[in-house]
Amino acid sequence: MLNIVLFGPPGAGKGTQSAKLIETYQLVHLSTGDLLRSEIAGGTELGLKAKGLMDAGLLVPDEVVIGMIDNKLAQNPTAKGFIFDGFPRTIPQAQALDSLLTNRGTGISAMIALEVEEKELISRLLIRGQSSGRTDDQNEELIENRVKEYNTKTAPVASFYKEQNKYFSVYGIGEIEEIFSNLCAIMDKLK
Ligand code: AMP
Repeated sequence: MLNIVLFGPPGAGKGTQSAKLIETYQLVHLSTGDLLRSEIAGGTELGLKAKGLMDAGLLVPDEVVIGMIDNKLAQNPTAKGFIFDGFPRTIPQAQALDSLLTNRGTGISAMIALEVEEKELISRLLIRGQSSGRTDDQNEELIENRVKEYNTKTAPVASFYKEQNKYFSVYGIGEIEEIFSNLCAIMDKLK
């Protein structure tokens, strides 16, 4: 299996590049942000609990997202692999993902990080907020909270994969196609 953690701060382009990668490599896209937004849209209890935290730009509890990922892995037993987008966002999530995959006889092939400077992220997210309808993309203070959550809780997850020699990075500013081809160069070596 080819199991990739596509990593990077909010606004780095993970969603855009995931969509292209799953098509090229026939993988299943698992975005915890998308899964949470669909819980909110469905008005579920989980969605109601997550909404306040998401609207404040804060992370939802680890057990919530780990449970969602566990369900999705179980629902896709024949997948050729997964692109994890927006997950894991904390060290306990990374540890849980390792054990979920080990239990299924597989593991993470690589983390690929999209590197984008903070100033560019904030302007990208403000632009996305004008059309995405995402409540957490609407104002600069909220966006800064998300970048802060990323810097304190999520950035350390990179070390977790560096220690396992599974860390790669790609510069995330430029043409979408050029960034994609740099990602593909890494993916092709992993296959
Ligand atoms: P995203 O679409 O990945 O930017 O996620 C939007 C929001 O959903 C985040 O700001 C968090 O509130 C929540 N979220 C998504 N994925 C996770 C995760 N792995 N851990 C905790 N919270 C998450």
